[in-house]
Amino acid sequence: EEKLEIIKKSIRNYNDFPKEGIMFWDIFSVLKDPKAFQLLKEVLIDTVKEIQPGVDCVVGMDARGFIFGSFLALELHVPFVPIRKKGKLPGCTFMASYTKEYGEDTLEIQVGSIKKGQKVLVVDDLIATGGTLACASQLLRQCGAEDIVYLAVMELEQLKGRQLISDSKCISLIQL
Ligand code: 5GP
Repeated sequence: EEKLEIIKKSIRNYNDFPKEGIMFWDIFSVLKDPKAFQLLKEVLIDTVKEIQPGVDCVVGMDARGFIFGSFLALELHVPFVPIRKKGKLPGCTFMASYTKEYGEDTLEIQVGSIKKGQKVLVVDDLIATGGTLACASQLLRQCGAEDIVYLAVMELEQLKGRQLISDSKCISLIQL
């Protein structure tokens, strides 16, 4: 689609960031271009409207998933819930750990933020190894989520990250 081509052209990549041998795709280069950001917003909203009806909650992944997850939750008139890196959320939390493209991490979600049986849309900027979303899946199952749909702006297809979340539907807008 034409909109996706314009968005894709605005994505900058950096070699050897944050570590040698890693190619980093910078979503903020899209946000710096108001036209590209507007088009990305439109494509994300159109994509999410197709997933509807039935999404009870939008979960945004720390930190770039918050940018997109928040306006998608508003658009769907459902709650926005964050999954955050360890130690950032107050109150009782569920925890799960994973290994990612560059290092180890623990993620948390607040207990009670999702109700049993809910259909959850999980949003992030990029899928690499799939470890982050697989960890989100563990947290959401602990919360009792029934149906999970993953949505990412970018996907590094060669890393086959979606194999780690093959139990659920996974949509990416741009494959790199
Ligand atoms: P994964 O767990 O799938 O290996 O990595 C995905 C997570 O790491 C996402 O939360 C994403 O924000 C971040 N990430 C990994 N590589 C990149 C990249 O090249 N660009 C951006 N923007 N984020 C990345």
